[in-house]
Amino acid sequence: MRIPIIAGNWKMNKTITEGIDLVKNIKNITMDTDVEVVVCTPFIALSNIKKEIEGTKLKLAAQNMHWEDNGAFTGEISPVMLKDLGIDYVIIGHSERRQYFNESNETVNKKIKSAIKYGINPIVCVGETLEEREAGNANDKIKTQIIEGLKDIKEEDMPNIVLAYEPIWAIGTGKTASSKDANDMISFIRNIIKDKYGVNISDKVRIQYGGSVKPSNVTDIMNQSDIDGALVGGASLKAEDFIDIVKF
Ligand code: PGA
Repeated sequence: MRIPIIAGNWKMNKTITEGIDLVKNIKNITMDTDVEVVVCTPFIALSNIKKEIEGTKLKLAAQNMHWEDNGAFTGEISPVMLKDLGIDYVIIGHSERRQYFNESNETVNKKIKSAIKYGINPIVCVGETLEEREAGNANDKIKTQIIEGLKDIKEEDMPNIVLAYEPIWAIGTGKTASSKDANDMISFIRNIIKDKYGVNISDKVRIQYGGSVKPSNVTDIMNQSDIDGALVGGASLKAEDFIDIVKF
């Protein structure tokens, strides 16, 4: 059985003080739910938030990392630093990173390998643009992102990887993919994993949906057969909304 995973991606929002306030209001939800709940905070808040969630089941994630252990990469954060902080997850290949910071399937692949090396679980994002969907190219785009992103990733590491299908046109736009379309694409992704690693692995890998998830649509999304969770942006910034989403 796949344990549902709901992650709040704060993006470039919340000061450390605001982040601590938010986490104070949501952390107890983890005590009476079987859902795995994660907050993905800006780098500078990770350390304080780590202290704030001690003794709870709330998990912590970074939103990005470099693939090298250390070196002359001004402004970057390494997996060694994140490991030292004791974080659980790292988002890799979010569409905003791909769009604004030139991340490619190749860098995504390097980052996944590096995260695995340090025991940090990657949340790997894939998604198509509206033009790609309208031109009938969504499946090809997603397949390429999955195959190239997971190149040479070993079978035994796959259960620790979470995939997130986030159609770019649904992110921050208020437009959600219909739950059927989202489920169809997520089943398609699961089949790619099955072809590559076999059914034992494809049954284990958790695949989230992301893109304008909110309290009003989360139940329908989570009721779909292949959707194991949500990566939530805007609605994760308000405690009440995020709690409602976790309670789907
Ligand atoms: P959104 O963002 O919920 O604000 O659409 C989702 C994401 O980008 O992870």
